[in-house]
Amino acid sequence: MKWLLRRCTVCGRYTLRRDKCPVCGGPVRVPHPPRFSPDDRFLRYKYEMLKRAGIIPP
Ligand SMILES: [Zn+2]
Repeated sequence: MKWLLRRCTVCGRYTLRRDKCPVCGGPVRVPHPPRFSPDDRFLRYKYEMLKRAGIIPP
């Protein structure tokens, strides 16, 4: 699912615009954390390394 709502980092208003805030012109960003957090990616990477090292079966 694609999250369309963005939040202005300056005034905190929610907007559907992707480029900038319609109120103050500040930058907007997705208020939700990404689906795969850096921790998940790290664990995935670690798992890959263990697999390549032959420690765990593929
Ligand atoms: Zn704003």
